[in-house]
Amino acid sequence: MSDKSTPGPVRVRYAPSPTGDPHVGNLRTALLNWVFARHAGGQFIVRIEDTDRERMVDGAEGRILEALEWLGLDWDEGPGVGGPHAPYVQSERKELGKYADAAQILIDNGHAYECTCTPERLEQLRERQRAEKKPTGYDSYCRNKSHEEREADKSQGLSAVVRFKVPLEGEVVFNDRLRGPVSFDPSLLQDFVILKSDGFPTYHLAHIVDDHEMEITHVLRSEEWISSTPRHVMMYEGFGWEPPVFVHLSILLGPDRGKLSKRHGATALLDYRDQGYLADTLFNFLALLGWSPGDDDEVMSRAEIVEKFSLDGLNAAPSIFDLTKLQWMNGVYLRKLPVDALAGMLAPALEAPDGLPAEISRPIDRDYLASLVPLVHERLKVIDHEEVADMLGFFFQAEIEVDPAELVQKGMDEATTASALKSAAAVIESAEPYEPDALEERFRALCAELELKPGQLFGALRVALTARRVAPPLFDTMVAIGRERSAERVRSAAALLSAAGTRD
Ligand code: GLU
Repeated sequence: MSDKSTPGPVRVRYAPSPTGDPHVGNLRTALLNWVFARHAGGQFIVRIEDTDRERMVDGAEGRILEALEWLGLDWDEGPGVGGPHAPYVQSERKELGKYADAAQILIDNGHAYECTCTPERLEQLRERQRAEKKPTGYDSYCRNKSHEEREADKSQGLSAVVRFKVPLEGEVVFNDRLRGPVSFDPSLLQDFVILKSDGFPTYHLAHIVDDHEMEITHVLRSEEWISSTPRHVMMYEGFGWEPPVFVHLSILLGPDRGKLSKRHGATALLDYRDQGYLADTLFNFLALLGWSPGDDDEVMSRAEIVEKFSLDGLNAAPSIFDLTKLQWMNGVYLRKLPVDALAGMLAPALEAPDGLPAEISRPIDRDYLASLVPLVHERLKVIDHEEVADMLGFFFQAEIEVDPAELVQKGMDEATTASALKSAAAVIESAEPYEPDALEERFRALCAELELKPGQLFGALRVALTARRVAPPLFDTMVAIGRERSAERVRSAAALLSAAGTRD
């Protein structure tokens, strides 16, 4: 099947409402639209849908554009870029009379009418419906009023909304490109408002008018909109316009198959940026939520994703947002970075107030940091300030705080550990060359001499040098810490045990 069921270039849009911090699910929608446009050599349009004035959140529009930019989803037409259908913000389009004119077309051709029912009447209606245990909704009271009756209502000062006249019989059918034919009984719908009394259009009217005028060919949006689509299809018919191809993307769920929420990880996209995830990771990860290239490839560059994309690769089944997989993938992308670039990302995290302890002077030595990167590369998943400070802090600290109990390994006691550490310090002081391989050889020989297993001696040394049981490769660490500081740490660990021994 071709990706284009309509002739001409692909034109898709991302149409966010600035009602909060941009959600990962919304950005997934934006991303798949962008990938589709780039794959098809078409256009990606951004349009801000801000007609629901009560739900607007200050600053949300800026955050949405920031999130798009961070992910690298550049738009061909839209805010800040302009284009042949400017403006791309619906409140500004309202000022041009676009929506009122469109509503008038539907009134004139008999597909819509003005309704002057007061909020009080609608509330009484709902109460009555509830009491009678009937579904609540508009009862078409104004639908069949004559022109004179409407004018009389308005002359009494009653304000009017415009409602779409839902056909009383027949069937609404549309084809979802991903899900196949969807049919709907319109009698289940009430005449819905398309233009409010303050002249603002509802979402239903505004997006159809704009999608039509902006020559949108495909609407890729989340599954939650599928129940609204019958209304949209009826409106297209009312206008006599060709609807776009509808593609309702899978919903996102947590690994427990519950609605994606904070307990599954951050839901605001920019929180991932702030937590030290890379844009490339999020791009790759979001692309795979509901789309697959048809092979087992998971780690793919933007170019590969764009190249392999096809609407046929979309999956209607819910997509699982798995934070563990995202962390794994971020590790993969971090390891792809050149050492200098990674050091450049680690430095600000370590220097942040919640990074390295305050007594460590800033700025930290970048060259030294770059030499440490290969030691922690494998274990890095995110550039989280506290985590990286914990991973690398002991390299920068003058003194570390060792728990004597952790020094003592299985099958050893305080005395044998203290004496092994003293011998180890002597090796550190004398080993030539002071390099990882040579050190390892010397320490293996020391194990044999002291009749210790390597795990015993190395375990004690690891704790003595890093105050941790899990740390980067031991002999590389020893070299990075330096001969003098290493010997000093091992000696003071031995002293700690001897002191503890005397105390007991
Ligand atoms: N403004 C709607 C939203 O916030 C757009 C829905 C659509 O894509 O038609 O999701």
